[in-house]
Amino acid sequence: MAILQKSTSDYDAILVGAGIMSATLAILLTEIYPDINILIVEKLESAGQESTSAFNNAGTGHAANCELNYTPINNAGEIEFRKALSINNSFEKSLELWASLYEKGKIDCKKFLRFTPHISFVSGEEDFNFLEKRYQLLSKFNEFKDMEFSSNFPEISSWAPLINKNRNKNIKIAATRVKRGTDIDFGSLTSEYLKYLVNNKNVELNYLTEVFDLNKLKNNNWAVHLNKGGKRKTLIAKYIFLGAGGKSITLLQKSKIPEGRLFGGFPVSGKWLICENNELTTQHNAKVYGKAAIGSPPMSVPHLDARWINGKRYLLFGPFAGSTTKFLKEGSFFDLFNSLKINNILPAFDVGFKNLDLIKYLISQSIQNHSSRIKSLKKMMPSANSNDWYLKNAGQRVQIIKKTQKGGVLKFGTEIINSSDGSLSALLGASPGASTAVNIMTEVLRNSCFLKDNKEFFEKRISNLITLDCKYQENIKSRNNSILGFHQFT
Ligand SMILES: Cc1cc2nc3c(=O)[nH]c(=O)nc-3n(C[C@H](O)[C@H](O)[C@H](O)COP(=O)(O)OP(=O)(O)OC[C@H]3O[C@@H](n4cnc5c(N)ncnc54)[C@H](O)[C@@H]3O)c2cc1C
Repeated sequence: MAILQKSTSDYDAILVGAGIMSATLAILLTEIYPDINILIVEKLESAGQESTSAFNNAGTGHAANCELNYTPINNAGEIEFRKALSINNSFEKSLELWASLYEKGKIDCKKFLRFTPHISFVSGEEDFNFLEKRYQLLSKFNEFKDMEFSSNFPEISSWAPLINKNRNKNIKIAATRVKRGTDIDFGSLTSEYLKYLVNNKNVELNYLTEVFDLNKLKNNNWAVHLNKGGKRKTLIAKYIFLGAGGKSITLLQKSKIPEGRLFGGFPVSGKWLICENNELTTQHNAKVYGKAAIGSPPMSVPHLDARWINGKRYLLFGPFAGSTTKFLKEGSFFDLFNSLKINNILPAFDVGFKNLDLIKYLISQSIQNHSSRIKSLKKMMPSANSNDWYLKNAGQRVQIIKKTQKGGVLKFGTEIINSSDGSLSALLGASPGASTAVNIMTEVLRNSCFLKDNKEFFEKRISNLITLDCKYQENIKSRNNSILGFHQFT
């Protein structure tokens, strides 16, 4: 049954890329419109292999429990808390959807989610005062009422022993902990969604197939041009979602919608230090976030993460940033240059000039060697031994360059771009990312052609799945905890 107005098309929707964003959108669409037919096109041989893959991101269920960059100090010298509340509420919607699908036997949360304490850790007088103030402010809100604060050395050691081993006791330290944090394997979550969709819904998945172009037809449908192993094919869809990660910007430019002309991309690569030594991995059951060095960008916040990937425990420290011109790990070195167009070249240069410190930071990060990376790790884990750690590439982030009247601005968040008729949506940017995919994709749908005439129907169906317009509800956390189970490391 066609969901949108009747016309000749092969699919109601084509979603480009099989990462967490397209998979989440497909789940929401099929839960709301069970008869919809969707094609997901992926250029690699399986799903979730780019930023969504477990080793390509930190796997933190971002709920603003521990990420100090979500509570910056504003010009008046006060701690800003609104972003923290909004991210917390967004993540709660993800938990709510997972709990709802788990309850109906559609996905298995044990495959991708572990409750893992989230800790913020700082040292030195200034950061101690900041963390104490942040705790006093946030713990007044229901969202953070379980947050604990400690400046007691033995207590912090009991929360995260590796943080304090060999630490100088003369320097003041402080930490906050939220026990109900999460570690999430977003690659496995994507596989859970897709397995269910392909087996139970009108959802097709085409691997090793690249969307190389798209154009709008007179009847407002989209012609999507595909390449599978050299064979070209064109399919028609009423709606298209560009969930191609870093490459969404390129496809957005090819779509030629006027809304896309404002954007360019600035790629940043990432690297982790990884440890597999069982003696250490079994001692650390937390995600410990520190404070970014003054002047460094938000994605540079150092953290030491307990991870559980494919049944094995790891420690991950980073991310270390690097300069690159690729928009995807499996991308091309020409990606950045090919994305420069008449509309965005001046904003791109403007951003370059305005962010010389960032460029210097990226260059300095790129030329680091193993011992200088271990030196950074030692600030978080003084007893670290370089032989226990090796370097691994993380995913690519493509930060948004947005054209303004005065030139360009570099944005570190996420941006949803919709064509005026709602027949195309694109997702740009990387933060807070996969954790808030449910909230982001709900917004994508709210601005899409699917909602044109049936807003009420949409809101009713989606409110059965997730709690929208998140006025915090006391019962959600306890409900999710009992449904998802409290999976601690054993
Ligand atoms: C270092 C790092 C750490 C991060 N840490 C966290 C974290 O702790 N928590 C969190 O919530 N988020 C985190 N993120 C962000 C998160 O990983 C991303 O927001 C999320 O994975 C993006 O998913 P996506 O589906 O948009 O893109 P991707 O996972 O990149 O998927 C895009 C897919 O599109 C495919 N594709 C591209 N072009 C085409 C084409 N032309 N045709 C067909 N297919 C195409 C690609 O092959 C890929 O499979 C982190 C990111 C990085 C880089």
